[in-house]
Amino acid sequence: MLRIGHGYDVHAFAEGRRLILGGVDIPHTRGLDGHSDADVLAHALMDALLGAMRAEDIGQLFPDTDPAYKGADSLKLLAQVANLARERGYRICDCDCTVAAQAPKLAPHRQAMRENLAAAMGVPVDSVGVKATTTERLGFVGREEGIAAWAVALLEQV
Ligand code: MG
Repeated sequence: MLRIGHGYDVHAFAEGRRLILGGVDIPHTRGLDGHSDADVLAHALMDALLGAMRAEDIGQLFPDTDPAYKGADSLKLLAQVANLARERGYRICDCDCTVAAQAPKLAPHRQAMRENLAAAMGVPVDSVGVKATTTERLGFVGREEGIAAWAVALLEQV
């Protein structure tokens, strides 16, 4: 049985934070605000996996009221979610993600993001797509107030 999951996340820019996307520390004037490392791409992907598993969402699994997740490395949380999927009898077949950011340019980091996300989930790089887009200066992304990410994941119940 194949199951599909979809995830969406948004984080606002904040001064004095690092910008971590797909586990890549990207040079920029600001980073994303959040309780963890605010890796919006990893968060969307985790929710896609959890959606396909018909499981909890990441807010339930890793509550932002829990000091254990303060500054957490989201790739480690993604690895935990992938392990949970395997424990519950799912194989991660394929994932694809889109990140919407007006700035900085993300294209040079796409491959590194794919490699990090794939390694965290224990799947081949070929099974993880990452695309980046601007929003043509429209909306909160276009005004450079934050970054949004979407992900889909296909899991097989084995
Ligand atoms: Mg988040």
